[in-house]
Amino acid sequence: MRMKSVALLVAILSVARGELPIVVIDAGHGGSGAELDHSSPNNAEFKSPRSGETYSEKDLTLELSKEIARLVNESGQAKAVLTRTSDVNVGMQARAKTADLPGAIAFVSIHFNSTPSAHGPVAVVQGEKYQGVPANTAAQLKRDKAFGDSLSKAVEAVTLKYDPASKAKPAQIFDRKPEGSHLFRYLRALERGKALDACFLEIEFIDNPKVAAWLLEGESSAAIRKEIAASVAKALVEHAVAPADAKSKE
Ligand SMILES: [Zn+2]
Repeated sequence: MRMKSVALLVAILSVARGELPIVVIDAGHGGSGAELDHSSPNNAEFKSPRSGETYSEKDLTLELSKEIARLVNESGQAKAVLTRTSDVNVGMQARAKTADLPGAIAFVSIHFNSTPSAHGPVAVVQGEKYQGVPANTAAQLKRDKAFGDSLSKAVEAVTLKYDPASKAKPAQIFDRKPEGSHLFRYLRALERGKALDACFLEIEFIDNPKVAAWLLEGESSAAIRKEIAASVAKALVEHAVAPADAKSKE
């Protein structure tokens, strides 16, 4: 049986048993100190020249992930499980193990990107090989891309209203951040991990002052971030109820 059929079957059987499909939401980074099992406490940040305030990726990922999870659970159609709920770092293997649950069908790791002149949401997925070693099947890669693109488009549906440059890019293959390959490697090693739809979702480039102006520092920024969370939650629920490529084919 093909992977996508397995994931769809898991979703259907879970619903038939009265159990909701589970989506795991991973708030990237967290805590302080040394890297923990390939997870760094923080990556992207924006120091505001105007207010002097520092906005850290680890805080933004937690805020957004909690709000997405709240809304997924509120939908009554899917269940969200978070890898962390406070400002602590979690090792990559522990993050992946959160998805070792009956009914788990998808895993999204929420991040914010950094490159001062760049714009736009993007999903990042595991390629068929990582550093020459088989890492993902062709069929699962296709599913991961469809999953990731559905989420980056959900972010774009909000961000484009506030910034014409904030356009989603097609899902990219993970080829440079070693911590990412570790997360996916741990995920795929789980009993049901090979059939999990998985991606990183990079919301926006927060060290770009043009992005920070509307996403972090503006009067409406907190409301915009909530709107992004609502759009991502809706896409996650839609995916959990009918996985992306099952809707377009068969
Ligand atoms: Zn990150």
